Amino acid sequence: MAANSEVEGVAASAAGRRDPAVRAAVEQGLVGGGDGAEPLVCLLDVAGIRASAAALTGAFAAALAPGTPVLHAFAVKAAPLVPVLRLLADAGLGCEVASPGELALARAAGVPADRTVLDSPAKTPAELREALALGIAVNADNPQELARLDGLVGRAATPPAAPIGLRINPQTGAGAIDALSTATATSKFGIALRDPGARAWLVRAYLDRPWLTRLHIHSGSQGVPLALIAEGVRELHALAEEINATAGRRQVDTLDIGGGLPVNFASDEETPTFARYVAALREAVPALFDGSYGLVTEFGRSLLAKHGLVLARVEYTKTSGSRPIALTHAGVQVATRTAYAPAAWPVRILPYDAKGAPKTDDPVAQDIAGPACFAGDLLATARELPRLAPGDLIGVPDTGAYFFTAHYGYNSLPRPAVHGFTVTESGEVTFRLVRPAQEVSAIVAEAGGDLRDALL
Ligand SMILES: *Cc1c(COP(=O)(O)O)cnc(C)c1O
Repeated sequence: MAANSEVEGVAASAAGRRDPAVRAAVEQGLVGGGDGAEPLVCLLDVAGIRASAAALTGAFAAALAPGTPVLHAFAVKAAPLVPVLRLLADAGLGCEVASPGELALARAAGVPADRTVLDSPAKTPAELREALALGIAVNADNPQELARLDGLVGRAATPPAAPIGLRINPQTGAGAIDALSTATATSKFGIALRDPGARAWLVRAYLDRPWLTRLHIHSGSQGVPLALIAEGVRELHALAEEINATAGRRQVDTLDIGGGLPVNFASDEETPTFARYVAALREAVPALFDGSYGLVTEFGRSLLAKHGLVLARVEYTKTSGSRPIALTHAGVQVATRTAYAPAAWPVRILPYDAKGAPKTDDPVAQDIAGPACFAGDLLATARELPRLAPGDLIGVPDTGAYFFTAHYGYNSLPRPAVHGFTVTESGEVTFRLVRPAQEVSAIVAEAGGDLRDALL
């Protein structure tokens, strides 16, 4: 019961911080209807992010044999914002990167090479060389990439400083969302473990290369049940044991178990928790925690999702047929997956009045539309909410990962500003700018504004 009330306590305080932050965002002119106020802004709850980071590190620390090396590498694609990476680094986390851009963000945040992991499925020779030179851990995706590494590592006089591993696809099956299921029989990621001959090939690959010291998997994602994630990790551990037994030494010394803990988008409750995830792993693979392997994790969504809020002004309301529609400034540019795959990515809509106070009138079914020029630009259909009016605000919670941080440039809509907020005991709200709103001049420049005559 203690664990349960703790979960409720965290959720209640996160929700408790939200309404004061919305009101303060309006009062301090970050968003709203006043002159110069933006129609759209994104907020990040700093205390919430710190709480999730502490929950992750605490859950593993409590389960691992004392002294076991562990690196929690935040998956940068979930929230590619330098101040966020810096905050997480301050909370003890590293970075998982999958592109030169993400690596540059991690470095800009001051995350050291030995706390960075490179994972993309299509790394160029230049990216591999840079990672090896910097000493960044690399997980190779496929045999051709391994052959490239042979060329780079084989020619070197000394073994690479960077730990190198191979990514395995355990082929344990799909979750509820096909596009996000990384461990199906035919997934594009990693070396398919159950394909004919694959296991023997993998063991041989390690025996031939003493510098291969890690094994990597990322088998979870939104929609994947914990037991299925844990099954993939069990496969990974069993393969490491087999390689080490065949090698006659502990060649594989670190298991990178990936990320992929699902997030609850239906309420403020944070479930499943990192503690639940660790419990599921302990049940499926007890030996994972006995200290014989160092661990790397790569969580993204589950660290950030609950701590982001989109706040958008309702510009107009109308009816079409008999359907009431609120036209807002939050749509496909900040909630791309919701607009294109609404059944897989439903979001909650929280109604506020023009002053930023929660609206509590009787609910009416309404569509919540975004500003983009295509019919599917909707955040919700037939949603029961107090009737919205022009000047009201809608809040879209749980958007801290892969929503406004993965901006979609449709209609040349600008990337909105992101502010981090903290709330004192007495309810005072302080905002810190994390990302400025994109200026229209920047949109023009990125669209070849300086190259006007290029095609004449
Ligand atoms: C996207 C990704 C992650 C993070 O996944 P989440 O679902 O956000 O936790 C971790 N590792 C790899 C290799 C990824 O591609």
